[in-house]
Amino acid sequence: MSDIRTLIGKFEEQARCLETTPKIREELFQEVHCYTEKFLTNLKKAPTYWKGQENKEGFSDNPLSEEASSLKDILNFFQEQVIETGLNPPSPGYLAYIPGGGLYPSALGDYLAAVTNRYAGVFFASPGAVRMENMLLRWLAKEIGYPESSAGNLTSGGSIANLIGIVTGRETKKLRAKDFHKSVIYLGAHTHHSVTKSVRVAGMQDCLHHLIALDDKHRMIPELLEKAISQDKAKGLTPWLVVASAGTTDVGAVDPLDEIATISEKYQLWFHVDGAYGGLFALCPEGKEILQGIDKSDSLVIDPHKSLFLPFGSGAVLVREKKNLFNAHNYEANYMQDAIEVENELSPGELSPEFTKHFRGLRMWLPLKLFGVSVFRAALSEKLYLARYFYEKVQEIQGIEVGPFPQLSVVIFRYLPDCGDTNKFNQRLIQEIQEDGRIFLSSTLLEGKFTLRLAVLCFRTHLEHIDLTLDILREKIDYLLQK
Ligand SMILES: *Cc1c(COP(=O)(O)O)cnc(C)c1O
Repeated sequence: MSDIRTLIGKFEEQARCLETTPKIREELFQEVHCYTEKFLTNLKKAPTYWKGQENKEGFSDNPLSEEASSLKDILNFFQEQVIETGLNPPSPGYLAYIPGGGLYPSALGDYLAAVTNRYAGVFFASPGAVRMENMLLRWLAKEIGYPESSAGNLTSGGSIANLIGIVTGRETKKLRAKDFHKSVIYLGAHTHHSVTKSVRVAGMQDCLHHLIALDDKHRMIPELLEKAISQDKAKGLTPWLVVASAGTTDVGAVDPLDEIATISEKYQLWFHVDGAYGGLFALCPEGKEILQGIDKSDSLVIDPHKSLFLPFGSGAVLVREKKNLFNAHNYEANYMQDAIEVENELSPGELSPEFTKHFRGLRMWLPLKLFGVSVFRAALSEKLYLARYFYEKVQEIQGIEVGPFPQLSVVIFRYLPDCGDTNKFNQRLIQEIQEDGRIFLSSTLLEGKFTLRLAVLCFRTHLEHIDLTLDILREKIDYLLQK
């Protein structure tokens, strides 16, 4: 027995350093604080894109070792091998894809969540954590206009939220594998790839996918949806799901949600709205108007790591009827017999594929409490107006052709040269802009046309950055014309 005590003692001696002392914590904290301050101060000047740095091999040359390293060395390595590669989404000049956020108080929320390590998956384990997340979800539901009978889940992102919504629809419609080959899903031509991926991950790739054409503003045409449904029914097929976009990634188009809701009710379809990019614009009056009908959906995805400016890792799904979300995800396990529900609060573990999970409510709750909700409404209105401002101003550049008036905060446009290949010119234009690095735009292909897009969503992006973008566009077009 004394042998084993000696042995344990030897291991203990080493293992004890996993618990840091106050002095060490102070040093570590200062070091990280110093690093993040430098990062934030430099953000204005830092490139939006570290081009040609994709092939850094640092991690293979610097694997884990049995020995400890100093935090200073680790942070230097991190800066060089992680930060200075690829895109810089928290930068104010980042106007591509769907921009990122990264509110500082969210980082502190993550810090608190990690240090205190509450078990947020089950009410019994952390009633407070679950109450906080449920309160946030109820707040989101209320802003959207969902009834009190709704429920939701804070997810890691929009893709998982789409998966939860679609699985909930599948279970509510009681579809089984034998039905899939006759079941039809209706999607817009610009539906995000995560929706079809979710359908496949949900085991339903054998469902028929019916793509509905878009109008000249890139929105699903309801008449064509209804026609497709009735034709499919006449063929003996089972229409069961329609997915509308509340802000497509391509052009920020919002499908006519009200009309789609009416059709989906008439034909008893599950109506899922992918509002990962745009759903949270419901927080501001301008957005709420555009999103009319979003409250009539059966399930809805919104991404706080997009339009609530949180760091990546925060999505949300809302389901109109709590029982549907619960029935699709609840579980029973003997080892959970102590975890009796003592209150009328559902646990995340019963409403999502996750069990043990990141206490991600804290990174959302802290900034909302600290700043107050009104600041978020204003920031979202600002982003909408910045897109409208850009839409007006960019047309003053001779030769620019714009797409439709921006419904949300994405503007599409391209340059029409007097001669030469228009697609090639715009491809070179985007390359010049990206190589310059002060701002970052991305592109898309619309009916074969190479189109530039500006997406305003980073909370750091203001009027000065839109003006800078316009200057850079003029500069690069002139440069390419003179070449
Ligand atoms: C970003 C996005 C998604 C995917 O969400 P993730 O958070 O990236 O997983 C889905 N749909 C739309 C419309 C999006 O913009």
